[in-house]
Amino acid sequence: MRIVEDINAARQAVREARQHGLSVGLVPTMGALHEGHLTLIRRAAQETEFVVVSIFVNPLQFGPSEDLSKYPREFDQDLDKLQSLPVSLIFHPEVSDMYPEGPSRTLVTVPGLNGVLCGLTRPSHFDGVATVVSKLFHILEPDVAVFGQKDAQQLAIIRRLVHDLNFPVQIIGAPIVREPGGLALSSRNQYLSAEEKIRARAIYQSLQSAEAAFRQGERHAEVLTAVVRKHLQRYEIGPEYVEIVDPLSLQPVPYVRTPALLAVAARIGDTRLIDNILIGSS
Ligand code: AMP
Repeated sequence: MRIVEDINAARQAVREARQHGLSVGLVPTMGALHEGHLTLIRRAAQETEFVVVSIFVNPLQFGPSEDLSKYPREFDQDLDKLQSLPVSLIFHPEVSDMYPEGPSRTLVTVPGLNGVLCGLTRPSHFDGVATVVSKLFHILEPDVAVFGQKDAQQLAIIRRLVHDLNFPVQIIGAPIVREPGGLALSSRNQYLSAEEKIRARAIYQSLQSAEAAFRQGERHAEVLTAVVRKHLQRYEIGPEYVEIVDPLSLQPVPYVRTPALLAVAARIGDTRLIDNILIGSS
């Protein structure tokens, strides 16, 4: 497992692997790795022979009042977690190398998808994500890139940008990994107190209660999202949004006929959490 900070050295390492006939998989992360990330890496290793994990806390995707400075940076622990995994290269660039002129020159923007759901309260977030992922694709030229379904809006945006900009990369969405109590794993769960962590379980439970209503025949988004809100209310959680949308276009789905994304964002204390399930997929 090689660790490379330099952009040209990383590009070179990947090109050499390809010259040796190896297919290349990429798992972009911001570090503070947990089992969710590790699952993506295992998936990339099933699909490709040379797995690159990028670890980069991307300032461009944090708003001015967000948690960029306190976001967990645990590079040594991350390396320990990666030791036993089939990772060939860790790309760990400096901010000053990724954005040498400061972070706001060329931006990749995916209109329509970037302003809904999380984009309503995080207006520049997805331009930051789309820009850094485009840079990573250009630097590392992967055949396959694996992203988590946990960030369903991010996944939709990346699928769209790959299509629109003709990136020769296959995008794989991997299922959400959860704690035994149902809470979706997230690097931001570290911010939660023990009590908040238990309260946060209500988020997934609320999605499950809507899924149960769906299974009993309810199809109206208005009713299904009300089930979610009611459950959250019991735990005094006021969600930022509860929406049922098409998983690719992210447009609202008023009546669920085909698989639809039920997505929620909510604050537990000061920590903003997101979660989602696909309903109607089985
Ligand atoms: P992050 O480090 O938070 O930027 O996440 C890096 C990648 O891991 C993204 O593709 C996320 O969607 C994915 N990811 C984060 N949490 C989970 C989870 N609980 N299950 C599956 N994938 C996840």
